[in-house]
Amino acid sequence: MPHFQQSVFPSMELSDSPLLLTPGPLTTSAETRAAMNRDWGSRDEAFIALTARIRRRLSLIAGGTPESHPCVPIQGSGTFAVEAMIGSLIPRDGKVLVLENGAYGRRIGEICRILDRPFVMLSGPETKPTDLDAFGDRLAEDPAITDIVLVHCETTTGVLNPLDDVAAMAESAGKRLLIDAMSSFGALPISFRDTRMTALAASSNKCLEGVPGIGFVIGEKDAFARGTDFAASLSLDLCAQLKGFEVNGQWRFTPPTHVIAALDKALDQFDAEGGLEGRGGRYADNCHRLTAGLDRLGLKTVVDPNAQAPIIVTVAAPQSPAYDFGALYDALLGRGYAIYPGKLTEQDSFRIGCIGAIDGPAMDQFLAALEAVMKELGLIR
Ligand SMILES: *Cc1c(COP(=O)(O)O)cnc(C)c1O
Repeated sequence: MPHFQQSVFPSMELSDSPLLLTPGPLTTSAETRAAMNRDWGSRDEAFIALTARIRRRLSLIAGGTPESHPCVPIQGSGTFAVEAMIGSLIPRDGKVLVLENGAYGRRIGEICRILDRPFVMLSGPETKPTDLDAFGDRLAEDPAITDIVLVHCETTTGVLNPLDDVAAMAESAGKRLLIDAMSSFGALPISFRDTRMTALAASSNKCLEGVPGIGFVIGEKDAFARGTDFAASLSLDLCAQLKGFEVNGQWRFTPPTHVIAALDKALDQFDAEGGLEGRGGRYADNCHRLTAGLDRLGLKTVVDPNAQAPIIVTVAAPQSPAYDFGALYDALLGRGYAIYPGKLTEQDSFRIGCIGAIDGPAMDQFLAALEAVMKELGLIR
């Protein structure tokens, strides 16, 4: 393995891990990884208490309380949580409107299709936030719509969608609103206190800086109570799992015990950093350094700065004939940095994440490595 640079971020000791500048899984702290270095019996009191604690902490981060807005964690990646949310909280005779401007919105449409939930898509350009006028028109035209699903930060590009406006319009039209908050939760404001939402889905391995292995859904208590009859899956039934937690505090099926212990430790660091403000502030600084550095290197970002969330930045592929994503990727990985391929349908691009246990100096070191690699590859002089 190459020797990777150390960050000055206090809890980060990178050992031989590359710095992950991706949309997840992300770079985690040594402390978080160390929390996995013991075994837990899933039916033991200590583990039951640990589960209750992370559920409570997540409800509070979402601006709810465990009573008003219970958190139901679920085994698997973030998509498992989104699928569980749709299958458990949207009635079979509902009609879903998916607000789509990227791959994650399209994935929600795919979930609705497979779960047999009637749905329509309102699609817009990948580099622009959801068009509120078009959304208002669609709501007015189609009164059969019962549920709206929005991706808060569309990780395909890093576009931030207008959550509060969509929520206000959904509320005044009397519709339920479900949010894929996967890449925003913990870093960008999203709160049941301020915004009327039915439920949101997120995961341990994005802005909370835990390791991959669980997603979770936090939602209005009534939404879970209503759902019990129409779940589309045994293992992804959030309503049954919530009942289980209420009865004996236990997971119905084998929980990823180490992942949950790591999340609890990651949440300690989230609190120590100043919660959402601290974490969001660090990511905003990372993003600012990154976009300024890309600009200095002559690389163009595809999202308008006003619509850019400080989560992930999409870079237009350089026009140079010397450009090859694979070569750029390998050269950066050789220096200890993993970037991410693009997902834009219309344009060749790549992505660089601003999230994870990464601070400003680490981002500056990455930019220095990027400059050196671009020189090596003949992309700049
Ligand atoms: C990461 C992400 C997901 C979940 O992806 P997984 O690969 O299943 O973890 C869903 N939606 C958005 C917006 C995401 O960024």
